[in-house]
Amino acid sequence: MTDCIFCRIASREVPAQVIFETDSVVAFHDLNPQAPVHALVIPRRHIDTLNDAQEPDRDVLGELMLAGAEVARRLGCAETGYRAVVNCNQDGGQAVYHVHLHILGGRRLGWPPG
Ligand code: AMP
Ligand code: ZN
Repeated sequence: MTDCIFCRIASREVPAQVIFETDSVVAFHDLNPQAPVHALVIPRRHIDTLNDAQEPDRDVLGELMLAGAEVARRLGCAETGYRAVVNCNQDGGQAVYHVHLHILGGRRLGWPPG
């Protein structure tokens, strides 16, 4: 048993509002949304941070991006626009150390981010 919350969501040990899942990724709503649309896409395979991704992770990282675009389509912000973000380590504001893609949309987002 792992204490990684996102591994536990991927294995359905911990409930989440799942949007869709495939053999290698799971998309679900963020528990503490920062925009009208705020979803996360995670690889089922545990990777601590983007820094730890290796060559064998190439396909799943590609799938993460494609799943992010699918989330935006399903949640209705693909045309109006959205942001796809991976936070890495302390300065990136990473709180959960299992790689995840944030999909944020449904309002105009500021740039640069804080
Ligand atoms: P980050 O700061 O990039 O590591 O983002 C972690 C995100 O995970 C935050 O936006 C949290 O609100 C979200 N989060 C943490 N625990 C859960 C959970 N159990 N279900 C859904 N989202 C979560
Ligand atoms: Zn994990």
